[in-house]
Amino acid sequence: MGRFITFDLWETLIADSPELDSRRTEYRVKNIHSLLSQIQPGIDINNIHCAHEKIWRECSTLWGKARDLAFTDQARLFIGLINDNLLTSLNQSQFQSIAEIYSGAVLQFRPRLIAGARETLDQLASRGYKMGLICNTGRTPGITLRKLLGDYDILGYFKSALFSDETIIRKPDAAIFETALRELGADRRQTVHAGDSWENDILGAQAAGIKAVWISPEGQGSGDCPVIKSIAELPEVLDKI
Ligand SMILES: [Mg+2]
Repeated sequence: MGRFITFDLWETLIADSPELDSRRTEYRVKNIHSLLSQIQPGIDINNIHCAHEKIWRECSTLWGKARDLAFTDQARLFIGLINDNLLTSLNQSQFQSIAEIYSGAVLQFRPRLIAGARETLDQLASRGYKMGLICNTGRTPGITLRKLLGDYDILGYFKSALFSDETIIRKPDAAIFETALRELGADRRQTVHAGDSWENDILGAQAAGIKAVWISPEGQGSGDCPVIKSIAELPEVLDKI
């Protein structure tokens, strides 16, 4: 009988910072502005800035219901928010170029791999755990995050890698955990989910009947959910579950 672990991605295996996030924003806005200036001369950079903020708010409404949209739909909505007739005036390759700047910003300003993450995955793999990834995406789609994880040399540890812009369902909906179980061929009673978000990771996993480990530097332990300060403590706590 196998044992299975699913992981959250952001702030569990990779870590971001407000500085990196704002540099990505600047990168997207600046580069999309210079590209669009060739198509619609005189286009105001502030419109792009506003659209970049508005799309986040629009997506957040959907995300709050544990639903998502495909990345191309997010890119389409974003372009529509810059100005009404922009989308129809772009050809396929221009649309693609904008989408690539938008999604590729994460590869220009990369979140760091959390200390001990690779070693932990390696240790668990050698103990025979089968592992999966369940990621709620934001502006960066799964296709780009796979590239990042490939560059960090950790993508290969995951037999299943789910990204919400592809599943269209987000944590904490139990359905995304069910999909992970199915892809891993896992029994929920032999599966543990590890993540940093109480609502998305812990309550979501528990709703799917999966045990959870909360990664939280300040979190307080509770009866059925162990708390660890970082991913590096996971192998030890798994022995006790
Ligand atoms: Mg997270």
